[in-house]
Amino acid sequence: MPRQNRPMADISPAASASPALVRAGAPPPGSGLSATQRALRKLGLLRDIDFALYLPMRYEDETRIVRLVDTRDGDLAQVEGVVVASEVTFRPRRQLLVTLDDGSDTCILRFFNFYPSQQKQLEVGARVRVRGEMKGGFLGRQIMQPSVKSAGIALPLALTPVYSTIAGLAQPVLRREVRAGLARAVLDETIPAQHLPRDAWSLRDALSFLHYPTPDAAMATLEDRSHPAWQRLKAEELLAQQLSQLQARRERAAQRAPVLSPARTSQTLHSQLMAVLPFALTGAQARVGEEIGKDLMRPIPMHRLLQGDVGSGKTVVAALAAALCIDAGHQCALMAPTEILASQHFAKLVGWLDPLLAERGLRVAWLTGSQKKKERDGMAAAVESGEAALVIGTHAVISEKVRFKHLALAIIDEQHRFGVAQRLALRGKATQGLEPHLLMMSATPIPRTLAMSYYADLDVSTLDELPPGRTPIVTKLVAEHRRDEVIGRIQAQLAQGRQVYWVCPLIEESEAVDLRNATETRDELAGTLGDKVSVGLLHSRMPTAEKQAVMAGFTAGTLQVLVSTTVIEVGVDVPNASLMVIEHAERFGLSQLHQLRGRVGRGAAASACVLLYAPNEGGRVGETARARLRAMVETGDGFEIARRDLEIRGPGEFLGARQSGAPLLRFADLEADALLLDWARELAPKMLGLHPDLAQKHVDRWLGSKAEYLKA
Ligand code: ADP
Ligand code: MG
Repeated sequence: MPRQNRPMADISPAASASPALVRAGAPPPGSGLSATQRALRKLGLLRDIDFALYLPMRYEDETRIVRLVDTRDGDLAQVEGVVVASEVTFRPRRQLLVTLDDGSDTCILRFFNFYPSQQKQLEVGARVRVRGEMKGGFLGRQIMQPSVKSAGIALPLALTPVYSTIAGLAQPVLRREVRAGLARAVLDETIPAQHLPRDAWSLRDALSFLHYPTPDAAMATLEDRSHPAWQRLKAEELLAQQLSQLQARRERAAQRAPVLSPARTSQTLHSQLMAVLPFALTGAQARVGEEIGKDLMRPIPMHRLLQGDVGSGKTVVAALAAALCIDAGHQCALMAPTEILASQHFAKLVGWLDPLLAERGLRVAWLTGSQKKKERDGMAAAVESGEAALVIGTHAVISEKVRFKHLALAIIDEQHRFGVAQRLALRGKATQGLEPHLLMMSATPIPRTLAMSYYADLDVSTLDELPPGRTPIVTKLVAEHRRDEVIGRIQAQLAQGRQVYWVCPLIEESEAVDLRNATETRDELAGTLGDKVSVGLLHSRMPTAEKQAVMAGFTAGTLQVLVSTTVIEVGVDVPNASLMVIEHAERFGLSQLHQLRGRVGRGAAASACVLLYAPNEGGRVGETARARLRAMVETGDGFEIARRDLEIRGPGEFLGARQSGAPLLRFADLEADALLLDWARELAPKMLGLHPDLAQKHVDRWLGSKAEYLKA
């Protein structure tokens, strides 16, 4: 059975090509690098081990020669024969036409780009070996642009690997470098044998096999990720990730944070806030509040993710945490990714807390980038003096100029929108060597598998219960040409005194086009709905004051319909709104659609979300777009949405990790390899405890310089 085959190809240093250009401990980036070295660096190939772990995307079978008569249309074939004719024609375009005879049949080789040297190589009478895709056709068998070698050289023993490459790095060069790197790499085992399954392949065997599989290992076997060679690599990779997460957690545990003990008086801000809330906490809110409270009393910085579906009531949990912090005599910062979301938080929290803070000579401060300098300076001064016990704003809150007197708790809403750099900047706000506690909030729940891997260094609290009295949102797909029916729905809602959102299409290339669309839609809707209905417009280019005025109008109910671009995506909270129409829904991402939909269904009224979609010219919606729309109709559960989003987009996109630079899994798949993930999770703490040096070696090998990112 080919699956059980052990690698045959010898990758010992003696058999390898000349040394690579780049070695471990290579000169620092910059001058003196050849074009090849620069290209290799771009691919992340620096150390020998990086080369060894850089696996082919496919293989070419150069291990056998087939007879022309045995080939079929579409085969990728290698044939060998004699050139019996060769001519350059100019019709329909310049090309070199070569007729090859291998004794069983003839075929035409067609070259559109060719050099004189190639022409010479293909002179009549020359014996050559060519590889390419066979095409049957009017003229008989043909191969377009085949690769050509002289005949007679020995056939390789292993399939020829093809690596993903970039401009300026030719495949043969890369192949040679990888081969050399693999030969030099030290591949001693880092996982103690007793922790591996008895029949596990060694790392060296697995890598040798995947780079140079023997010809009898069918191609299909290699693509089969359950092959023992793949299993070994996936296990290695998952273990590296778990180890680094665990290390990060331990490092964090070595840091110090202010201990926020509960105030001794009965009139705490926390208890006063509880008293002024217009509702009782849900069970989930109370539980999560306690989890956070316990963290804040520990001398180790909290690193907690609060996840809860849209509308689950995260804001009040954040406010209560802030109150605990202020009760302990410290400052709290609350950050949101957009100004409009930050201002919603500000409006809500000022309403609840400002009167209570005023009694204590404290206040809530507001900080954003768009603020007038004078105002911002004033706020910054209040932050520095400690008078601003709570600071709310965008990432301006953590700008270098803002100095806290004693920041003890930072809350980040929609944390996935913040980059690594911003999270690091926050850590720079430590006062007296004490790191602030960190509470991150997200309406996009992290699927279990991701929580266990990328976010293993995070404590997770979940609001798994919606405030009472919510009715499920009915989601409908409506084709663009039935737009008129939607107007009827809108009128029906307005007649009941309800309000409506209309979200305009997202055209990423051009904000100006977005804006024009939104403006036209507003005018059009205002015309159709008549004078008695007031239709507002909201988009990101509006001045802040105007945005706030429009939001205030919609909140107060003086605006009945709100046409907007996606600025309302997060955080907007108007319980009386019961219908949301999303135009060109096929252009939005799944979690974005879900977030948008979460703007309705916040009151007791039955709510609906209409997804207007426009089929493209072919009358179809693309496959992934269809999967997203289907998911929206089929489920309202944020966890299920997140799971499907992960499925559709893959973890890289899901996490936005491309931008943040966090290393992604190259080989393992969190869903498909759940068992291996469990194995790695169990082994990681044991390794750190019993074999710390092996653990470190393992992490270095796999993550190298990238490990830093995981700690942010
Ligand atoms: P999200 O989790 O999406 O940030 P919000 O904090 O904006 O949710 O809360 C959504 C709405 O539910 C708000 O109007 C909020 O005041 C309300 N709310 C929060 N908690 C409760 C509760 N326990 N009972 C009733 N309403 C609540
Ligand atoms: Mg929110």
